[in-house]
Amino acid sequence: MEVTLLGTGDTTGTPTVGCDCDTCREARDRGVERSRFSVHVRNEETDECLLIDASPDFRSQFLDNDVSLPDEVLITHIHFDHLDGLGNAYRLFDSLPVHATGETDPKTDESVADTIRDKFDYLDQITVHDREPLVSFSACGFDVTFVPVEHPPLVCYGVVVENDGSKLALTGDTGYSIPDASRDALSGADLFLADAIVPASLCEYHPAGGRHHTDDGVPRTFGYKHMTREGALSLADELDAEVTRLVHVSHFYSEEEAFEEPLAVDGERYRI
Ligand SMILES: [Zn+2]
Ligand SMILES: [Zn+2]
Ligand SMILES: [Zn+2]
Repeated sequence: MEVTLLGTGDTTGTPTVGCDCDTCREARDRGVERSRFSVHVRNEETDECLLIDASPDFRSQFLDNDVSLPDEVLITHIHFDHLDGLGNAYRLFDSLPVHATGETDPKTDESVADTIRDKFDYLDQITVHDREPLVSFSACGFDVTFVPVEHPPLVCYGVVVENDGSKLALTGDTGYSIPDASRDALSGADLFLADAIVPASLCEYHPAGGRHHTDDGVPRTFGYKHMTREGALSLADELDAEVTRLVHVSHFYSEEEAFEEPLAVDGERYRI
C-alpha cells in the first residue's frame, strides 16, 4: 500500500490563521504546512483509494498532492477537523461509501455513523456503513479495523489497515491510556501514525496539566485527550512499530523542535 499524509496538523493547523509565532513563521519560511488531519491509502493491487478522515482542507490537500479521489472514506470521530471535509463529496462523487462505528456515544446519545448521517443528510452521494469496533471489515481491498481510544468526552477510534502482511496503524486523537485490546490491534505496524499534539513540557500550561507520567515524571497525556510527543514515542516503542511518524502536531512546539524528526509534515509518502 502507498500511504500519503495529506494533513498532519491539529485543529488550527500550521501555520495557524492570523498567527505570527516563531513556529508559524518558520513553517512559512520552509514552505511546509500541517493542515487538518487526513491520510490517503492507495491499494497498489486494485488501484482503489481509502481516505482516513475528511479534513476541512480536503480541497487543497487533493490539489497539492498527486493522489486520486477516494473510493471509500473512514471517519474516526465527529470533531470538525476530522469530519467536516465530507461536504466536499457534493458534485465530486456519484456515490461515496463512508465507514464509521455504530456504537452509541454516551455524550451525544448517537453513534459516529448516526451523526454523519444526520449532518450530511442533504448529500445523496454519501452512504454510511455502521461498523463494530475491533471487528475487521473490507474496504478498498484492505482489512480495516476501528479500535477504541481515549478522547473524552467523545468516542474516538484508531484505525488498522492491513493487506498482504503490510500493516498501517494510527491512533486517532487520543490520550496515552489506550485499552489493551486496542493496543494489541495497533501493535507491530510497518507504519505507525501517533497523535503528538505538544511536547510534554507544555503540560504545565494546560488547565488539567498532564497525566499518565513515566517513572521519570514525564506526562504522556496532555490534559486528557491527546498524547504528548513523549507519550506518542513511548507508545510507539511499546507497540513495536517499524516506522513512526508523529501527527496532529500543533504550532505550540517551539520553532527549534517543531520540524525535528519524527514529527511529520504534509505530503510525506510511504510504501509499506
Ligand atoms: Zn503560530
Ligand atoms: Zn478530536
Ligand atoms: Zn483532531
